[in-house]
Amino acid sequence: MSGITWHYVLKFIITGDAAVGKSSLLVRLTDQRFLTNPDPTLGVEFGSKLIEIPEEGKIVKLQCWDTAGTESFRSITRSYYRGAAGCLLVYDVTSRASFTNARSWLADVREHADPHLTCILVGNKVDLCEAEDGTSNGRREVSTAEGELWAKEDDLLFVEASAKSGVNVEIAFEQASRDILDKIKRGV
Ligand code: GDP
Repeated sequence: MSGITWHYVLKFIITGDAAVGKSSLLVRLTDQRFLTNPDPTLGVEFGSKLIEIPEEGKIVKLQCWDTAGTESFRSITRSYYRGAAGCLLVYDVTSRASFTNARSWLADVREHADPHLTCILVGNKVDLCEAEDGTSNGRREVSTAEGELWAKEDDLLFVEASAKSGVNVEIAFEQASRDILDKIKRGV
């Protein structure tokens, strides 16, 4: 879609524990590729992509910021959150700890970001949970139902995804963008 103008620019932040796949989701979104061994010290910090929301007839420019290594500091500056319309709150479905810790990442977001910010909970790495015949291989530590339940309780959108296979990555951003456009229409 290069050369096309856009109707909205939406800033997204991507947050969650180290190694849940935040940089990989961003690379998948913007470059349609997956790196098996990304250098953690060279985490992608920023990526931009145009997406279309056909039912609204709108083109949205996503500007996505990854926390890229700041996880260890836990206190992310307000400037990172400033102006963000959307947040991907990421955990790894094969790591119970990352799911538990996502609650404190959400608390951080709710404390520092715009109260109307749209947050989508993303259970990443679903590709690791399936055996070759499509059955479960026992590696999953967080069920889909648990993710759904928390999302419902805390007013989050929810999706399970894989930066490796690409499943649901663009859809996660689209879903969140739809919700943001809807808020804009309603004047929220
Ligand atoms: P970040 O620290 O949250 O940005 O995580 P990274 O994107 O650096 O990913 C951490 C590790 O998990 C890397 O080895 C990635 O290749 C791997 N990874 C990320 N996403 C996925 C995924 O969807 N599936 C699998 N199997 N591995 C993933």
